[in-house]
Amino acid sequence: MAGRGLFLDRDGTLMVDTGYVRDPADVKLLPGVAEALLQARALGFELVVVSNQSGVARGLISLAQLEAVQSRFELLVAEAGVTFDDVRFCIHGPDDGCSCRKPAPGLLREAAAARGIDLERSVMVGDRESDVVAGRTAGCTTILLEGKSSSADYVVRSLTDAVAILRTL
Ligand SMILES: [Mg+2]
Ligand SMILES: [Zn+2]
Repeated sequence: MAGRGLFLDRDGTLMVDTGYVRDPADVKLLPGVAEALLQARALGFELVVVSNQSGVARGLISLAQLEAVQSRFELLVAEAGVTFDDVRFCIHGPDDGCSCRKPAPGLLREAAAARGIDLERSVMVGDRESDVVAGRTAGCTTILLEGKSSSADYVVRSLTDAVAILRTL
């Protein structure tokens, strides 16, 4: 049977979003993230990061900086015993017409195809409406963090609360 994916936005969902994060020293996990990821893994979800990084196209972040920030992020997560099954970035700008920049569902579809994930049984969690739209377009259940108005299936205050919903799906 195809697996279930938990698709996760990175900035503002798993780590603090300081805006075009380019310095590894600025990487800070949000509270409870590592434990929530461990619980999601225990529930059988593959953990897939899907992140827009238009700072690359805008010339604000180099690919080397993107890699350094991601390495630091993955190290902090790994210290808590969590590794991701897949990590995908869109490095394009809003005007590039790519199919991977959220709200487009390209990153989710690519990861699902690569890993045999059933999108209909999967969940997208993010802190922006563009995450919700990407998830819904891909066929996933959608969870928004800290949103005010949204078309998400669920709106919660933290990743910990999101994982509590995973238990019911
Ligand atoms: Mg975000
Ligand atoms: Zn893209």
